[in-house]
Amino acid sequence: MSYRTLLLILVLVPAALLGGAAAFGLTIPVPQWGRDYVLRFVLEERQAPLELPPVAGPSDPSRPLVVIDAGHGGRDPGAIGTDDAGRRFREKDITLALALALRDELLRQGGIRVALTRADDRILPLAHRPEIARRLEADLFISVHADSAGENADVAGASIYTLSDEASSEAAARFAARENDADRLNGITIDGESAAVSAILVGLSQQRTLEESIAFAGLIEREGEGALAFVPQPRRSAALAVLRAPDVPSVLFESGFVTNLTDRARLTTAEGRAQYAAVLARAIRVHFARRRETAPGGG
Ligand code: ZN
Repeated sequence: MSYRTLLLILVLVPAALLGGAAAFGLTIPVPQWGRDYVLRFVLEERQAPLELPPVAGPSDPSRPLVVIDAGHGGRDPGAIGTDDAGRRFREKDITLALALALRDELLRQGGIRVALTRADDRILPLAHRPEIARRLEADLFISVHADSAGENADVAGASIYTLSDEASSEAAARFAARENDADRLNGITIDGESAAVSAILVGLSQQRTLEESIAFAGLIEREGEGALAFVPQPRRSAALAVLRAPDVPSVLFESGFVTNLTDRARLTTAEGRAQYAAVLARAIRVHFARRRETAPGGG
């Protein structure tokens, strides 16, 4: 090895390591300094790197994987409801508690692998949410949300959204516009993203995924009958950015209204959340059982 090559390796290898570490936002432990040394590069300022969350449940990778996405987080609280005592109920807290309850229920029953897009109160770009499901090769993606009806405190009930270019109603279109706005609230700007959100084209390759998504939405409605309160015509569709994974069946479960007393009572108590978790877990099990039956060579 020539002296010049050796010199090149000495310079390039540490540079590549540092660069790689910066790209993944690594923290390097430096015990002698009494703290961890966090690498900060100007290059990574634009947007936090996508971090893949841990997968809980069976270690067998052939087991189905569901990714649960707690809507909003960080600077974006989502919908906010206020009770007579002036207490505020934030969607981002409700969705996280519900996501954790569903994860715990699925793990308790066993047989299904589970990952959460976020397990704490953090900013997560909209585009990262379905991308996490794709990279983990998830079999199902559920984004959990709650809605607001503004001054109209009587509006209550859950609904289930699937992806479509055209909204199923004006209300669905307004809902999608609010949800697609989450990045702006979090101060995230991504070039080209807003244009992509406004025109989500459902291609032929997505048809099969979409059919599965719609079937799963139907299962949530069926399993929730008598156990959960739904809005009239709870199955809806809209151009929701979070449902864009072309190869992972995806639904957005809108759990209820933070502006309604009864919904709020269900969504902010452990007993209420357990009801939601039981319904969603049943729907997930039936969905995977059906898929096994129709899979080639399965039986
Ligand atoms: Zn939301």
